[in-house]
Formats: sequence, structure tokens, C-alpha cells
Amino acid sequence: MSTSPLASPLTLALSKGRIFEETVPLLEAAGVQVKDDPERSRKLILETTRPDLRIIIVRATDVPTYVQYGAADFGIAGRDVLYEHAATHPGGLYQPVDLNIARCRLCVAVREGFDYQAAVRQGARLRVATKYLRAAREHFAEKGVHVDLIKLYGSMELAPLVGLADAIVDLVSTGNTLKANQLVAVEDVAQISSRLIVNRAALKTRGEALRPYLDAFSHAAGA
Ligand code: AMP
Repeated sequence: MSTSPLASPLTLALSKGRIFEETVPLLEAAGVQVKDDPERSRKLILETTRPDLRIIIVRATDVPTYVQYGAADFGIAGRDVLYEHAATHPGGLYQPVDLNIARCRLCVAVREGFDYQAAVRQGARLRVATKYLRAAREHFAEKGVHVDLIKLYGSMELAPLVGLADAIVDLVSTGNTLKANQLVAVEDVAQISSRLIVNRAALKTRGEALRPYLDAFSHAAGA
């Protein structure tokens, strides 16, 4: 991981929250400490103890975009986000490893007392609110369930409570958010974890600088 003083640092794109927190141990295993805490600092470019590596903090859904266009050399993004990104940018990213971090499930959830299975059996047309249009569309098509999908950008849990939708497709980790809103998970859509993603051109032109980080992250993640 030596660096020439002339070389620009490698840029790693991360999102705040679970992905950042669960990446810190992987960075530490690669001998890297982040100099700022994104939960406290408003800085979007974070220096690390390695002059050859900086971190940019972007929204989770934007991580693949920064990496695909080369504004970041590599990043870490959830399978949920990558699946939606690939709908509009097929094959654009090299995804060498599942890091097994930020694990959760993508689920169909409804209000307590709503008989989802009966509605499906009766062939009802369901309104489903989600951020994950591709995953939801494919899931319900596979099950033969008729749905009208409503795109939301956040707080999906609210939609069934105020009559916007019969069901949601959202990430569930502990289940506390569903419970707090009198919702129940009725079906799994996918198991989710986060993957390392790499810009294809950077892999060719900066492979020597990138490789030790990719290897250290994979090794630390047991991947
Ligand atoms: P929980 O209450 O632990 O089930 O978490 C559910 C809330 O956290 C939902 O609003 C999810 O969208 C969000 N969430 C859970 N796991 C993740 C994850 N791995 N990445 C991003 N958001 C998540």
C-alpha cells in the first residue's frame, strides 16, 4: 500500500449508518483509521491515516453511481441498492466480494390484521409501496400476484397506516420498526448484505494500489 506523493488518493464511497460502522473494522484490518466520524462531522470527504486513501460519504443509493462513473474507485453497497442500480446500468460495476455486512431481509409487510395470503388467494390487486421497484416487480411477478407499485423514497412503513398502500416491500433488520407501526412481515423477497464494488477502469489503471485494500477487506470479512 505504498504511495507516490504524486498519485491522487484512492477514493472509497460509503454511506453513513450501518455500512460505515460495519466497514470501520474492515478498514482497521487494512491498517486504516478514519480521521472523522460522519455522524458528528458535516464533512463529505474524510481523510484517513493513509495518504493514499480517502472516503467520500454519499447516500446509499448513490454509492453505485459514484463508483460507476469513476468519481470513486471503489465502494460498499447493499445488494438491495445494487439490484435497483443494475436495472438502469446493467453490468457497469465489478462486484468481487460479498462482505457479509449490514445484513437484513427485504420483506413484504402489511398491517396487523390484513390477511395477505387470503388477498393473494382471491387474486386481489394489491397496492404496494416501495423504494425497491425492480425487486418488488420481479418478486410479485414470480408469485403471480397482481400489484400496482407506488415508488416511495423513505418511511415506507407509513404507507399502509394512512391508506396509501396495502403492503410495502422494505428492509427489515430487528423487526422493531415494523412492530412499532403495527406492521408484520408476511413474505421474504431476498436476503441482503453489502458487497464491495469497484470501478472497472480503476481496476485496470489503479489495480496495484487497489488490490491490497480489496484483499484486506475480503480477508477481514472472511469472504
Ligand atoms: P429494524 O427496525 O431493525 O427492522 O430496521 C428497519 C429499518 O431500518 C427500516 O426503515 C429499514 O429500511 C432500515 N434498515 C434495516 N436494515 C438496513 C440495512 N442493512 N441497510 C439500510 N437500511 C436498513
